[in-house]
Amino acid sequence: MTDLVRTDAAELGRLIASREVSSQEVTRAHLDRIDAVDGPVHAFLALDTDRALATARSIDERIATGERLGPLAGVPIAVKDLFCYESLPTTASSRMLEGWVPPYTSTVVRRCLDAGLVVLGKTNLDEFAMGSSTETSAFGPTHNPWDLDRIPGGSGGGSAAALAAFEAPLALGTDTGGSIRQPAAVTGTVGVKPTYGGTSRYGVIAMASSLDQPGPCARTVLDAALLHEVIGGHDPMDQTSIDQPVPDVVAAARSGDVTGMRIGVVKEFGGEGYQPGVEARFHEAVEALVDAGAQVVEVSCPHFEYALPAYYLIQPAEVSSNLARYDAMRYGLRIGDDGTHSAEQVMSMTRGAGFGAEAKRRIILGTYALSAGYYDAYYGSAQKVRTLIARDFENAWASCDVLVAPSTPTVAFRLGERTADPMAMYRADLCTIPANMAGNAAGSFPCGLADGLPVGFQVMAPVMADDRVYRVGAALERILEDRWGGPLLDRAPHLSGEFDREDAR
Ligand code: GLN
Repeated sequence: MTDLVRTDAAELGRLIASREVSSQEVTRAHLDRIDAVDGPVHAFLALDTDRALATARSIDERIATGERLGPLAGVPIAVKDLFCYESLPTTASSRMLEGWVPPYTSTVVRRCLDAGLVVLGKTNLDEFAMGSSTETSAFGPTHNPWDLDRIPGGSGGGSAAALAAFEAPLALGTDTGGSIRQPAAVTGTVGVKPTYGGTSRYGVIAMASSLDQPGPCARTVLDAALLHEVIGGHDPMDQTSIDQPVPDVVAAARSGDVTGMRIGVVKEFGGEGYQPGVEARFHEAVEALVDAGAQVVEVSCPHFEYALPAYYLIQPAEVSSNLARYDAMRYGLRIGDDGTHSAEQVMSMTRGAGFGAEAKRRIILGTYALSAGYYDAYYGSAQKVRTLIARDFENAWASCDVLVAPSTPTVAFRLGERTADPMAMYRADLCTIPANMAGNAAGSFPCGLADGLPVGFQVMAPVMADDRVYRVGAALERILEDRWGGPLLDRAPHLSGEFDREDAR
């Protein structure tokens, strides 16, 4: 009997379509798995059990009548709790939205439902997607299935942990500065941030709108590509949506042919602050790609080192504007509405109680950066840096087809290790932020272990060349699986003992 929770999405889709297993069996297997392991992992904030089983039943019925559905029909998926899905609470991991039930469904989730995917529930994240560890969630952190004392990355740590703990074969994430790629890197899974405008932001709770981008999370490159194909493409409901066909990511993921491809290694990423094991795995992966037929060039992107400081002006500026809507008047939390307080007092009491420390820090920082006397010095300068980063990418494409770098400077750190030091937390996204600033496609793929924990390999491609990210990712996956004799996740210590060890609780 196939172990359904360890089977990848492409294979599950095939088994369901050929009626070797039913979507109901697959869905139940994942719900049972969640029941068994999510206590210590805490990847999920809410489950949608009844609707999931009803959807699975209807998919099975449609297949039984001979209807031909897409390749992922009947396959379960976990959804980051930032996507609106009608009648299921959407919290963004904030007290501000606790108990709020959206009256509509985001385009990305709608497309998943149309493709026959079965939504299992909503996954944990840092509050309003701000953080690199899920520790700013108002509902407690998620634990990394590789080592439950460590962070699963963030903000999308719940989605990544759900994949790594075999609670779901697919998940949805959003990436503003690295929130798909960094969690993928530290959990040994795959995560892709599509080109900005390549997936719709409609119905995704806004954080920093010029940077936010929904994307696929999976355990294999092909699974991520199949999900990307489902969720990608033009949406008239999102004014920044690109009206062009989705690049052929599935063909690229199936091919994995990198013969003659020019791979640019970003010179500026490495050295101080990078864990030696991370750098070693990264360089070995580059060599493996050369063995597979790729050419390597060293590329200088001199402005990438300013991406992090510029991000921490632009991102908070947009946050301060987007989070202004939580004013206690329209929806969400309301505190002090007892007839003795003015509207201003109710707003201030609500915002004081409803937002956590990180959200407040960003709102204050952003409001300051946008204030009249400082606008040019801070926000204006950061926007100029953003242009220079985009130019670095443009210059790079003259000599290479993709850029590569480690996804993160270190492997998963311990829970609590960086909570008192925001700057240390922010540095987790050192290598991922440039692609958000310029709107490029980028993905993270497992490339080995350092100190027994997963290391991520980042591939960045030009705008609307998302297929190249998958091509390189698939090449790497193939080479490394041959070397390891199977997927990296099979080497996770806690995943064989299944969380039953004393120290795992
Ligand atoms: N860690 C980054 C931040 O805190 C990125 C978050 C994200 O991509 N949503 O802003």
